[in-house]
Amino acid sequence: MDGSAQCRVCGKPLAPAEVFGIRDWEYGFPGEFAYRPCPDCGLRQLFPFPDLDDLREAYRMDYHGHAEPGKKGLLYALLFRALERKEQARLSRLVAGGASVLDVGCGIGLFLEKLRSLGAGGLMGIDFSETAAQAVRARGIPCHQGTFLDYPAEAESHDVVVMNNYLEHTLNPALELGQARRVLRPGGVLVGELPNFESWDRALFGRFWGGNHVPRHTFQFGPGVLRACLGRAGFSRVRLGFPLNTSHAALSVQNLLQRGVADLRNNPALRHGRAAYYSALLLALIPVNLPAVLLRRTGHLSFEARP
Ligand SMILES: [Zn+2]
Repeated sequence: MDGSAQCRVCGKPLAPAEVFGIRDWEYGFPGEFAYRPCPDCGLRQLFPFPDLDDLREAYRMDYHGHAEPGKKGLLYALLFRALERKEQARLSRLVAGGASVLDVGCGIGLFLEKLRSLGAGGLMGIDFSETAAQAVRARGIPCHQGTFLDYPAEAESHDVVVMNNYLEHTLNPALELGQARRVLRPGGVLVGELPNFESWDRALFGRFWGGNHVPRHTFQFGPGVLRACLGRAGFSRVRLGFPLNTSHAALSVQNLLQRGVADLRNNPALRHGRAAYYSALLLALIPVNLPAVLLRRTGHLSFEARP
């Protein structure tokens, strides 16, 4: 753990914590964490900051991001499919004509497989986890096991770069966005999604918010900060979206209910970090989430950015 309190992006001293006493309520990684805002660039940075060994350990735990959707429960799978269908038209447009796609932080390759079925051409994945990279290759899609910054990409080599639930996991989002800009072909687009620290569910649940996900979520964004980061990386045309996605709210309720468990690491009530009632919460919270969609205060932010 790194206890220094400097912004890793711009080097300025971080302001005092806005939210602290955050724990890994899902998997029981040890310690308590806070998010401290940078007064200069506006990013919220995890404190203390995990080193690579901490992160390796955190991802080695029974991690939901590496579980097949079938294992997350039937209701979840149904909801997942319903939400995905809504996205299908937009994605088809992005990959029309056999666009080449680089999915950064691709997990087990579900999104790449979907883009292939929608007509994408050259596909490439990148993931830090060996388990994830093997799962992607098993789908017949090449995958670089490592980080985006050590991936030897040629400049202007991809039409679409995907960063779904990625930037908030990185060690320096500015360098990652710079790399994305570099590998995009003229006319290309960067698409992605990340937690919205300025959402209603974040304000309501505080240290129990599902989008905290410590120590894995190292940086937090709001709409303004995301726009500014994209702008500094050379993306001048940015469209933000506020998707109907109840996963952070559902996880927040689960975290609240698990807060009294003494040994979170061996919590018998959770499987792949999720309780049996989690899928039901995903559905039950949809009506609550609708006003947040209309007023742009959802727990997730999506973006499409062009140079
Ligand atoms: Zn900063």
